[in-house]
Amino acid sequence: MKVVVVGGGAIGMLQARSFAGEGYDVVIVDKSALGREASWAGGGIISPLYPWRYSEPVTALALRSQALYPDLVAALHQESGIDPEYSGHGLLMLQVEGKDQAIRWAAKNGPWLEEIKAAQLYALEPALGQGHESSLWMPSVGSVRNPRLLNALRALMHEHPAIEVIENDGLARFDERGVTLESGKRVDADRVVFCSGAWTSSLLPNQRIKIEPVKGQMIVFDAPQGFVNRVVLSDGRYVIPRRDGKVVVGSTLEYCGFDKTTNDEARQSLYGSALALYPELKRYPVIHQWAGLRPGSPNGIPSIGPISGYENVYVNAGHFRNGLVLAPASVELLSDLVAKRASKIDPKPYIPSP
Ligand SMILES: Cc1cc2nc3c(=O)[nH]c(=O)nc-3n(C[C@H](O)[C@H](O)[C@H](O)COP(=O)(O)OP(=O)(O)OC[C@H]3O[C@@H](n4cnc5c(N)ncnc54)[C@H](O)[C@@H]3O)c2cc1C
Repeated sequence: MKVVVVGGGAIGMLQARSFAGEGYDVVIVDKSALGREASWAGGGIISPLYPWRYSEPVTALALRSQALYPDLVAALHQESGIDPEYSGHGLLMLQVEGKDQAIRWAAKNGPWLEEIKAAQLYALEPALGQGHESSLWMPSVGSVRNPRLLNALRALMHEHPAIEVIENDGLARFDERGVTLESGKRVDADRVVFCSGAWTSSLLPNQRIKIEPVKGQMIVFDAPQGFVNRVVLSDGRYVIPRRDGKVVVGSTLEYCGFDKTTNDEARQSLYGSALALYPELKRYPVIHQWAGLRPGSPNGIPSIGPISGYENVYVNAGHFRNGLVLAPASVELLSDLVAKRASKIDPKPYIPSP
């Protein structure tokens, strides 16, 4: 069987790898270089923020993915020689409303979540600003350095004998037997799979699936190793430490179409949030600011499965704020659907619909 995957973000590249593992011939096409859009721009937290506030379908994919992540990144490291720098250093959540709900959610779903007092909090994060009396703590949550994850995947795509890569040539048209690219090149295939993130609705006729771009801006501080040690979330804003000490701060949530420009207002706002958490970050420079387009979908539930009205055309898109965490389980589910196998996760909540 030959499959063409349209879109090479984290979802598309992992999907291509999974299909190649099934023994299919795969062509992956992207309008630009692989892995340079939302999946590159994201923070890499391997958990939804405030996970108890999400619906069951998001939780089901998140829990399955979290179980798959450590082995997946180890395999990608081994296959590509590039370490995606997965760190299982936990998630601290400050000033949370509805702690009881969080604790009940964790008891039902399994992840370790507890309330810790100031002494333990400051032992974990000595540079945190003063005045916090407690925190919610999820020690098992990890994060990945997503640009490195994408570099690993891209290297693998180019090296894999069953995968053909076409970059800088976007989809112009598709039908049930393949795709035609903007250059006029034709790729025939038995299955067409859209993993085109925020662009997916614009590539399908008649608004078949509702996915809209939602801009997120981020900044990064050049801090020394050990200044921040784990992901810390407060008031919807977060800091993420990288292994070399850099501290990523996110993020804004902006509904402004396919605009990816950054601005000073967001930079100042993110800077203010970061210093409110870690006042001594003021000693370190902000070395970069960027923006990406999340594939926003109703309730953040991705569309995974066949697209109605077509034979052999599928989608795996619309992961909104959680595409990095949800990727492994979403890919596993779509591979099961394409192979017409029973899936570990009930596919019904993700059936693509307008
Ligand atoms: C600021 C920010 C912070 C985030 N933080 C996190 C986080 O901490 N944890 C988490 O889990 N998620 C996070 N996310 C969300 C996550 O990044 C996305 O949900 C995820 O990357 C979506 O992956 P994707 O592969 O569907 O989309 P993308 O990575 O955007 O890939 C889509 C691909 O489709 C290609 N494409 C588009 N049109 C065409 C065409 N016509 N022809 C061919 N190719 C095309 C694009 O070029 C692109 O490469 C964050 C996102 C942002 C913006």
